[in-house]
Amino acid sequence: MHKFFTPDMRTDRTFTMLKPDSVEKGHIGAILEKITAAGFRIVAMKLTQMTTDDAKAFYAIHKERPFFGELVEYMTRGPIVAAILEKENAVADFRTLIGATNPEEAAEGTIRKLYAASIGENAVHGSDSDENAAIEGNFHFAGREQF
Ligand code: UDP
Ligand code: MG
Repeated sequence: MHKFFTPDMRTDRTFTMLKPDSVEKGHIGAILEKITAAGFRIVAMKLTQMTTDDAKAFYAIHKERPFFGELVEYMTRGPIVAAILEKENAVADFRTLIGATNPEEAAEGTIRKLYAASIGENAVHGSDSDENAAIEGNFHFAGREQF
């Protein structure tokens, strides 16, 4: 997990996706408002749609899990908003802002508590480490698209 970590790896960026359910329900604006109000600066952003191969690669760590097929179907069924966010302690602070994977366990006021329908359709993605934030951001954005 930490084999890509180097002492100079940045700790002030994370990667997010507003998942297809958030886009379908018209929650893009409300969720971006929560994100920027919490002090995150948007340094890359686009509306895009993952292919099946994209989703399988992005979530490869979960490929043996029983929900993998459903996860790939869900994440490819419509457009997402992909973004790179900048803030001190970005990865941990963003995970706090979005709340637990299962919205029933998410704290009051978190994005998943407010907007997620279920543990599967849970509105947003947030990277789980600095190294994955870099890998995931680079998966979606060319260097010249990261400001
Ligand atoms: N997921 C699911 N069922 C589960 C656990 C996860 O459908 O029991 C989906 C859900 O969309 C989640 C994604 O798989 O966001 C990745 O799971 P992970 O455990 O990495 O949760 P996250 O880091 O997104 O909180
Ligand atoms: Mg995860």
